[in-house]
Amino acid sequence: MTKIKFLLSVACCCMLLSAAAQTRKAVFMILDGIPADVIEKTDMPVLKEIAARGGYTRSYLGGEKDGFSQSPTISAVGYNHVLTGVWSHKHNVWDNDIREPNYAYWNIFRIAEQANPSLQTAVFSSWIDNRTKLVGEGLPAAGNVKLDYSFDGLELDKTRFPAGEKRMFDIDESVSTEAGRYIREKGPDLSWVYLEYPDDMGHLYGDSPQFLDAVKKADAQVGRVWEAIKAREQQYGEQWMIVITTDHGRDAQTGKNHGSQTDRERTTWIYTNLADRNARFKTNTATVDIMPSILRFLTIPLPATTEQELDGVPFTGKVSVHDLKAVRNGKNIELTWGIFDGAGKAEILVSTTNNVRDGKGDDTYTRVAEVPVSAGKYTFTQPETTFCKIVVKAPNNTISTWIVDNKYVKHVRPFGRQY
Ligand SMILES: [Zn+2]
Repeated sequence: MTKIKFLLSVACCCMLLSAAAQTRKAVFMILDGIPADVIEKTDMPVLKEIAARGGYTRSYLGGEKDGFSQSPTISAVGYNHVLTGVWSHKHNVWDNDIREPNYAYWNIFRIAEQANPSLQTAVFSSWIDNRTKLVGEGLPAAGNVKLDYSFDGLELDKTRFPAGEKRMFDIDESVSTEAGRYIREKGPDLSWVYLEYPDDMGHLYGDSPQFLDAVKKADAQVGRVWEAIKAREQQYGEQWMIVITTDHGRDAQTGKNHGSQTDRERTTWIYTNLADRNARFKTNTATVDIMPSILRFLTIPLPATTEQELDGVPFTGKVSVHDLKAVRNGKNIELTWGIFDGAGKAEILVSTTNNVRDGKGDDTYTRVAEVPVSAGKYTFTQPETTFCKIVVKAPNNTISTWIVDNKYVKHVRPFGRQY
């Protein structure tokens, strides 16, 4: 080999290595119906190992309790918070029937595929509706998303998986085994793994040894995915983010039920291996934070509309602000927000239309003011319209909220449940 050829091959190797080192991939897992107190008191060696590399936090879902964004603590509702980064008043999933999801709020797969159609996406799930209805694969209204791989629908097979208490366990075993195999061999860029068995045992036995056993079994199933990730990191130098969460807690009295707004039902949790986390991970962390966090890690930008409508705050990367609140006081609207980084100015925008939700395109915003982020509050005069959306655009992230007058509520939820 000549010196030139040798140098060239060294250069090529270095380029390949650095390209591989920059490859980022993510997988999120939902373990159904495990309250935070239960996951914290159960010996979960895999989750513990993941948290040792990254972190663990409690989080919440259910939107603003007693507020306009309150959302039921029900399974499909919870998954869709993860997928879309918004609460039910926007994504319009209120129960497990998933009658009329509002696909105007793009889910994580649609955003990823739109940003880069060559990204490899996959769903491994013990419930087929997750792909066909929530992701809305192949539906024009949901953007005609085509996943590169899916492994689901086993619950429809009554021969291979006959009725019985352990039916869902057997299905979760197949789903997690296939997720581990596929991720290890193919390394898809973005995957969702969903496991159901813990919730089944919760409904059957409530807080009980049987339920704890199901939770422990889920840890071992997470292990299949985690081992695959570690193998790929080692073999290919890829950077992986894994997020594991749940879709609701359970009632405090029996542990059998969920759907209401009690603390135990609203309190969830997040495990991640990601070390690069910001203050949001320990500040009012919410299920809706997961979607923007994963997309940031993957360096996929949010579409402008998604960013303005987002209810979550990314827990990785730089963040300025969180938790915008708006209160009407006569003709005034009083805004307050939490501050992570007070540097720079925040733009305050208002719209009195809701075109995005109604599928009529973007809204027109009026720029009300520009104020220092560090102020943490701003009051402005707004005619007493029945509805407005307020957006605070800070240097590192954007937050938003709605003002909804009671008389307008039925118009605010044209498809959803009235309450
Ligand atoms: Zn559930």
